[in-house]
Amino acid sequence: MLESHGFTHEKVIDREAVLELEPALAKHVTGGIWVERDGFALPYRTTTAFRLGAQKLGARFLEGTPVRRIEQRGARWFAVTPRGTFSAEKLLVTVGAWWGELAKQVGEPVPVHPEGLMLMVTHRVAPFCRATLGATGRPLSFKQFDNGTVVIGGKLIGIAELTNRHGEVDFVRLVRSARTVTDLFPHLKHLGVNRAWAGVEAFTEDELPVISASRKASNLYYSFGYCGSGFQLGPGCGKLVSELMIDGTPLISLDAFAIDRFGRQAMASAKAA
Ligand SMILES: Cc1cc2nc3c(=O)[nH]c(=O)nc-3n(C[C@H](O)[C@H](O)[C@H](O)COP(=O)(O)OP(=O)(O)OC[C@H]3O[C@@H](n4cnc5c(N)ncnc54)[C@H](O)[C@@H]3O)c2cc1C
Repeated sequence: MLESHGFTHEKVIDREAVLELEPALAKHVTGGIWVERDGFALPYRTTTAFRLGAQKLGARFLEGTPVRRIEQRGARWFAVTPRGTFSAEKLLVTVGAWWGELAKQVGEPVPVHPEGLMLMVTHRVAPFCRATLGATGRPLSFKQFDNGTVVIGGKLIGIAELTNRHGEVDFVRLVRSARTVTDLFPHLKHLGVNRAWAGVEAFTEDELPVISASRKASNLYYSFGYCGSGFQLGPGCGKLVSELMIDGTPLISLDAFAIDRFGRQAMASAKAA
């Protein structure tokens, strides 16, 4: 299906090819999907580089400055914060799982629910895996760093505490995920987990983000609800949002991510019923 849409970078490979690429994998693996030029980026370094780049171009970052209220007066938007009120002609809302707080003020709610996504990092182990690995059937995203530690994640759902802006680790689910890893790499059975943590993420009903102009107010834009894929989609979506806000038309259509699609989807299913 992907190939019919022009995505030819993913190749289906058989068991022998998988084991040739990753010899430490359990022998019960029956095949895989291989992306030769795939890789990963480190979130802290990547987001710091983006921040420094934006600052060079004049952007200001104010941490610990929650926007309490947004409102449009005349041709300008105002964002009220404990550090004062900021104003601009155009406003982009990118508050992730906390969209609900602002949605009430604009009268444009979206069915978004928060989840606490988890990650764990193991002790160091001799190099055994070069690829960033996922599994089908069970959630897994897995990679080994140069220092030998293994990072294990892949939409592992923990506990989201939206009010305290905090995610909690659910150890029972974490154990299940560790078992997936030792099923695939039996030699890791006695490897210790060094640390685990959780963060809060926004999930929409259709598991797609909202990247859209407001349907209720002028010069208001949204980019939130990334459903666990926001880090990798961020740079591309940032560019599209800038095109949407500055040129009015993004290079590719963002209709599938419109903020009013949820109402339309509900009406379509009611009609079908
Ligand atoms: C443990 C974990 C592992 C993940 N692994 C991956 C991965 O491997 N690959 C991948 O692509 N994605 C991954 N993700 C998902 C990715 O981190 C998110 O999709 C991404 O961070 C979403 O970006 P965002 O900017 O939309 O929202 P966020 O990163 O949540 O940013 C929203 C920001 O808005 C701020 N905010 C909220 N309310 C207000 C307010 N009223 N005023 C001002 N600021 C406000 C918040 O403090 C926050 O800084 C992972 C997520 C977690 C939790």
